[in-house]
Amino acid sequence: MHMADVINGVTVAQICEIINLLNPCMDDYVYVYDLVNDFYYISPSATERFCLPASTFNDVVANHAKFVYEPDLTILQDDLAELVEGKKDSHNLHYRWLSVNHEPIWINCRGQVIRQDGKPLYMIGCINETGKRQQADNVSGLLGISHLKSFISKDNFTLPDGYILRLGLDDFKEINEKLGIEYGDMLLKRTAECITGCLLPDQRLYRAGSDEFLIADFSGRTVHDATTQYKHIRQSIDQFVEDNNYEAVFTISGGILPNAACRDYGFNGIMKFSEFTMNEAKRDGKNRSCIFDQQKYEKFLRRRRLTQLIRKSITNNFEGFEAYLQPLFCAEDNSLYGAEALMRFKTEEFGMVSPGEFIPVLEESGLIIPVGKWMLHESLELCNKIHKINPHFRISINISYIQVLKSNIIAEILTAVTEHSIVPSTVIIELTESGLVAPDARVTKLWSRMKDKGIKLALDDFGTGYSNFHYLNELKPDIIKIDRTFTVKAVQNEYEYNLLSLISNMVHSMNLKVCVEGIETTDELGKMKELLPDYCQGYLFGKPCPYDEFVEKYLCS
Ligand code: C2E
Ligand code: CA
Ligand code: CA
Repeated sequence: MHMADVINGVTVAQICEIINLLNPCMDDYVYVYDLVNDFYYISPSATERFCLPASTFNDVVANHAKFVYEPDLTILQDDLAELVEGKKDSHNLHYRWLSVNHEPIWINCRGQVIRQDGKPLYMIGCINETGKRQQADNVSGLLGISHLKSFISKDNFTLPDGYILRLGLDDFKEINEKLGIEYGDMLLKRTAECITGCLLPDQRLYRAGSDEFLIADFSGRTVHDATTQYKHIRQSIDQFVEDNNYEAVFTISGGILPNAACRDYGFNGIMKFSEFTMNEAKRDGKNRSCIFDQQKYEKFLRRRRLTQLIRKSITNNFEGFEAYLQPLFCAEDNSLYGAEALMRFKTEEFGMVSPGEFIPVLEESGLIIPVGKWMLHESLELCNKIHKINPHFRISINISYIQVLKSNIIAEILTAVTEHSIVPSTVIIELTESGLVAPDARVTKLWSRMKDKGIKLALDDFGTGYSNFHYLNELKPDIIKIDRTFTVKAVQNEYEYNLLSLISNMVHSMNLKVCVEGIETTDELGKMKELLPDYCQGYLFGKPCPYDEFVEKYLCS
C-alpha cells in the first residue's frame, strides 16, 4: 500500500478516511486513483451497486474489465491514456459500469489529475449515476417522488392512516404542443402553487412525473377529506385559468387512495394503486376524482393477466382458442341453414372465459387482428369439412370493426376463402354496427369487391341502440340480425313489437333477409315468427358447441 504518499499536504490514507466518513451521507461515489502504483480507492457504498472487486484494489487497468461495460472499455482507456500522457488534466466521461446484477448503468466520472514535476501521480474525483432520479424539480419547486420512497422505506415503518391524492393534468401533452414547453413549464409551476395553496397541515407534496403531483396525508384524514381537498384544488385551478384570461384552459384529475388499502404493499403499491385510480378518473371523463376500488383494481389485473395469456397463446399456435358453432335455421321449413362461428378461449388459470370478457380485451389490445385471422381460417376449415356432408351449408363469421379499420381484413377474407376452396356464396361476414364509424370510400369499395365475389354481409346486433339506417345504404348488407335484447323487448312490449315489425317490413321491402337471434322459448319463437323472419337462431334451436358435437347433432340425421 502507498498510504503514506502525500497530496497537497494530506496523506492518501487521510483522504480515504474522509471518504469513509462521508460515505453514509452521499449518493455519489468519491474515488482516489493512484496512477503510479496502480491502486484504486472508492466509497464503500459503490461495491453495493457495482461489480467492483472491493472498495480498494490494485491492478486497476486489468480490473476495469470486471466492472466497466465491455463496449465502453476503449473510450475509457483512450481517455486515461491522454491523462497519463499529459495531454489533459481533467477527466469527464459518460460511460457505463456494470451493476452487481451485471446490467450496464450510465455513470458520469469526473476527476482531476495531480502531477508532480509533470508526472501524473493521482486522479481524484467523483462518480455519479446519470440515470438516477431527479431529486427535486426546479420547475415546480417540489421534491421528487424518490423522497417519498426513502421516507416510506425506513426500517419498520408502518404507513400511518390518511390518504394519497395523486393529481394529473389532463391532456398536458396537447398544451405543450400547442403553447410550447416553456408555457407548459409555467402552467406546471402555477399548478404546483394552486396545489400548495390547498395543502392541509402536515401534508407532503411531491412531483410524481412530468405532469403529476402526489399529496401524502399521514395525519389520519379520510377519503371524504381527500374529495373535498380535490375540489378545492380544482376550484383553485379554475380560478387561475380565469385570471390567466383563458389563455390555456386545462383541468386536473385525481386518484384517491386510502393508506389502509396499500399498507401491505409499500412504496410500489402506493405508486401502482394511485396511478390506476387516477387513470380511472381520466377514463371516467377527466376533471374529476375517483376513489380506489379494490374490485375494479382486481378486474384491471385480471384483464392484464388475460392479455398476457392471450399473447402467450398466440405465440403458441393459438392454444386455448376454439371455434364453436351455433346452428342457424330457415324459418320457413326449419331446415339447417348454416352456423355462426363463435370464438371460445379456455386457459388452465381461468377456465372458460366468456367472449363478452375477452373480445373487448382483444379489441382494445389490437390482438383481435391475429386472433380474428386465426378464427377466419379455423371457421373456413370447419366449413370445408362440413361441405363434404352438406355443400349448401353457410358459415357465418364475426369480424370486428378493429379488423376493418386496422388490418387488411377484406383481402384476407378473399384469400382465405380461395385457400380453403370454399364457394364464396356460402360465406357470411357478420359486422356489428356499434363502434362502426361511417366506412370510408376505400372500405366501401373493398366491401363491394367482396360482395361481387358472392360473399354475403350480415349487419349484426341490429337494434342495440346504435341503429344507424345509413349503414343499410352504405354497406348494403344481405342480412339483418336482430339482437336478442330487441327480441326480448318486442315480446314484452307492444310498442317495441310494432317498431320491430315496421323495421322488419322495411328490411324485407329492401329485399334483405332478416335473422332473429336469441330465441330461447317457444313463446318467443311464436311471437317472432309473426314477423316472418328468414332465419332463426337461439338456445331453443341449439347452443354453440364444438365441431364434433355440431356434426353429430345437426348433420348426421
Ligand atoms: P354475437 O355475434 O351477437 O353472437 C351471438 C351471441 O348470442 C353468442 O354469445 C351466443 O352464444 C349468444 N346466444 C345465441 N343464442 C342465444 C340465446 O338464445 N340466448 C342467449 N341469452 N344468448 C344466445 P357468445 O358466444 O358469448 O358471444 C358473444 C359475442 O362475442 C358475440 O355476439 C360477438 O359479438 C362476439 N364474438 C364471438 N365470437 C367472435 C369472433 O370470432 N369474432 C368477433 N369479432 N367477435 C366474436
Ligand atoms: Ca354475430
Ligand atoms: Ca348478434
